[in-house]
Amino acid sequence: MKCNYCSNEAVYHRKISNEFVCKTHFIKTVEKKIRKTIRKYKMFSPKDKVVVGLSGGKDSLVLLFNVLELQKRYSDSPVVEAILIDEGIEGYRAESIEIAERMCKEWETPLHIVKIKTDFGKTIDEIIPSLEELNVNACTICGTVRRRLLNDKSYELGADCLAIGHNLDDQIETFMQNIVRNDLKQILLHPPNGNIKSDKKEIVQRIKPLMSIPETEITLYCYYKEIPIQITPCPYVEKYYILRKKIQDFINILENQSPEIKYNLLKMNEKIIEQIPVNYLKKEINQKIKKNGICKICQMPCGLNRDICYFCELKKGLNLVK
Ligand code: SF4
Ligand SMILES: [Zn+2]
Ligand SMILES: [Zn+2]
Repeated sequence: MKCNYCSNEAVYHRKISNEFVCKTHFIKTVEKKIRKTIRKYKMFSPKDKVVVGLSGGKDSLVLLFNVLELQKRYSDSPVVEAILIDEGIEGYRAESIEIAERMCKEWETPLHIVKIKTDFGKTIDEIIPSLEELNVNACTICGTVRRRLLNDKSYELGADCLAIGHNLDDQIETFMQNIVRNDLKQILLHPPNGNIKSDKKEIVQRIKPLMSIPETEITLYCYYKEIPIQITPCPYVEKYYILRKKIQDFINILENQSPEIKYNLLKMNEKIIEQIPVNYLKKEINQKIKKNGICKICQMPCGLNRDICYFCELKKGLNLVK
């Protein structure tokens, strides 16, 4: 088969649009889609300071590369910076730190490594024995702490937005998880393009420029662009991502028969959010930052009817509050 855009041999068939693309046009079409998403949702402009959250995985490196390419076009754009959270997971994090350091050096991007041990008090490995007592799993605690530290470091760096590498598959899995949990509030609070803008300046706007790119295309893009991929999985992932994994398998089975399924779910996710009046969303987010929704320890927003946020609750549970 020939490429739809030139006379070269096609290397990829994008079933959803029935496009056949050569290597060059595969790369071009992925990059174009990322730029289109950024423009459509007005995620950032040339004058904005963008900070990219690196996990060391393929998605966030693809994201960093594309954000850099975009901001490089404008000579007066602030420097793009990257943050990597080191959870302190033996045998897992070292590989991604090495990859992140190497790529940031190659792409001349300042990289900030934030250690959970330093900023929270304990590594994830050290927290594992306390999980049962806290009645929480490793990913919940790790995700909560990582989100918070990413936000705080981005704020410290003066970021206008924090870009994270959620791809299409990540987004629709989260959406489906919230559906099966009957959690409309979580669906509304986490739109596919990022989070709802908070009035509190310490909460940095999160954006997801890869929201329309399927995982398979990101993997292929890395291969063609020679972006390294971490091989070692987190030792805790299998145990704690059971529901997400089942949803992932279910969607992939459906996709074999209906290639449009992932995009349909993304559109449905967006439609649900569009149907809810903006005022309702504002109310949801602003309720969180009213007086009774402020954590009395760290002063960050927390849920209603709570005195302290979940981050501080975890810290307290682990005797890490000074
Ligand atoms: S799999 Fe879970 S514990 Fe491991 S890094 Fe990801 S969120 Fe953290
Ligand atoms: Zn081509
Ligand atoms: Zn707090």
